[in-house]
Amino acid sequence: MDILIHSFSGLAVGTVVASFSKRGWKDRAKIIAISGFGGALPDLDAISLWSGFDSTFGTFFNLDHSGKGIYSAKFWYSHHAFLHSIAAAFFMAALFGLFGWMVETKIFKSKPNQLRSWGKRNRLTFLGFVLGYLLHLLEDMPTPASTWGGVNLFWPSPAYVGGTGDIWWWNNYDIFLIVVGVIFANLFLILARRFFHFRLRQLSLGVFIFGFSLAVYQIKTRPYDFAYSGHTTQYTEFESKSKEIQKEILGDKLYRVMERFDRRLPVYF
Ligand SMILES: [Zn+2]
Repeated sequence: MDILIHSFSGLAVGTVVASFSKRGWKDRAKIIAISGFGGALPDLDAISLWSGFDSTFGTFFNLDHSGKGIYSAKFWYSHHAFLHSIAAAFFMAALFGLFGWMVETKIFKSKPNQLRSWGKRNRLTFLGFVLGYLLHLLEDMPTPASTWGGVNLFWPSPAYVGGTGDIWWWNNYDIFLIVVGVIFANLFLILARRFFHFRLRQLSLGVFIFGFSLAVYQIKTRPYDFAYSGHTTQYTEFESKSKEIQKEILGDKLYRVMERFDRRLPVYF
């Protein structure tokens, strides 16, 4: 799936985790933002597609393959490999946690400054980050197998999971709209909780589960099979079919709005 849906899904799961915080809007905003960051992070392994990769990373690490070759291959640093694993979710949480602790306590001198108590204080932020990260991995599974055959979920096991081709790589506007709906609904609930008494946690979790189920339903009922492994000669056909499906689901008007939004974005969406 595209980076926008990944990041926004992280934000969406962050709104649920944030509803468990008792520390006010600043802490909640932090949890939501970090969860969104966790949702985007696995695709850092697409850096090998960057035009400057070979002359920088390639030269520095003395790599035998070009960035483009690495991207499609199954090295641990290829796309959909280590960074798309459960192990990486926790590794990255620890790594960025350590970085966050150093910045907060050493530079801004905030308390508590013991790593353990700081970690305990920020446990909801960690949870949001890991959940956002894992949601990304789950979202990549229904995309085509391509050269990988899914994601290397249980790294260091060499097995790849998913690659079912239920959906195309992008143009999943319907899923994006569901995710945005969850974010807005949960932000509204967090705000409304200041004025009315209700069970915020249960309700935001309910909103998330409803949105998640709706997205799974949409993914599983696409009237077309996008599955392919290796490289495909039908790329343009798949691409236009995925747009056609969106037009049917959203209707002409909303589809046009989404397409215009898509064209303005500098990334695949
Ligand atoms: Zn990904």
